[in-house]
Amino acid sequence: MENKKEKSRTGVDKLVRATAADGAVRCMAAITTGTVAEAARRHLTSNTVTAALGRTLTGALLLGSSLKELDRLTVQIVCDGEMGGLTVEANANGGVRGYVRNPDAEVPLKANGKLDVSRVVGDGMFYVTHESGYDVGLYREPYRGSVPITSGEIAEDFAYYLTQSEQIPSAVMLGVLVRGRATGETFVEAAGGLMVQIMPGADDKTIAAIEAGMNNAPHTTTLIREGATPVEMLRVALGAVEFEIMEESDVRFECSCSYERAVSLISGIDYVELESMLREDHGAVMTCHFCNETYRIDEAGLENILLLARA
Ligand code: ZN
Repeated sequence: MENKKEKSRTGVDKLVRATAADGAVRCMAAITTGTVAEAARRHLTSNTVTAALGRTLTGALLLGSSLKELDRLTVQIVCDGEMGGLTVEANANGGVRGYVRNPDAEVPLKANGKLDVSRVVGDGMFYVTHESGYDVGLYREPYRGSVPITSGEIAEDFAYYLTQSEQIPSAVMLGVLVRGRATGETFVEAAGGLMVQIMPGADDKTIAAIEAGMNNAPHTTTLIREGATPVEMLRVALGAVEFEIMEESDVRFECSCSYERAVSLISGIDYVELESMLREDHGAVMTCHFCNETYRIDEAGLENILLLARA
């Protein structure tokens, strides 16, 4: 029962995409509590890494909210903090997946009792890659932008990337609230965020109103815990500025790996190596980086792959 409840909760995460000021302002908000909880459950992340990964998963969903079918957006943080680097990938259907190099890395809390995300991240680079058509072989030249990590608190890094690399002045709020346990899994109580992008043509009055709204807005996770929907989050952040909802969609942690894909990857391994796997290990085990799912190909399965390889 408990498991079923957890599963249904992961399905209710929502994202809203809207515009304001006749399209001169683009804004999106998302609740990602289930998505981040699923990532933490799969990767057994520490509290601070859960916050770092969860904020990045949320930021990638917001940044990727206008992706078209076959598009893919990757956010990669290459850093020297204890976390040791992070990769997150969002698709056009509201699916997102991601992993960190050292999921159990942990650092002391800040003096104010908050998780020290910037410390677990450290210094380094923040990369965003837009790709299209990769999975169906219609591969276009990807677009890749990068900026140095400015704060390591993730939201500021998304904003800095958008402003510097894509020349879109932006404000970003990302939050993950965890209730930690000394050992074992991290419990994600609330996660979500919002992003406001100022396009050319936005007037000063609108920008000032948005700045005032964002400055006065309570913390994202406070709003989510109080039961706010993504639309209500936007209403708080945009203050007096009217907005028009373009799209509401579901988001979730989702990976494209499968047993069939694992078999097809194993089939590509050198014939001699396959024989030694069969002889010494009596099968093969593959673990997906992105979702930590393990696929076991038993002796019979491996024999089959070898038969096909010989044919
Ligand atoms: Zn996977």
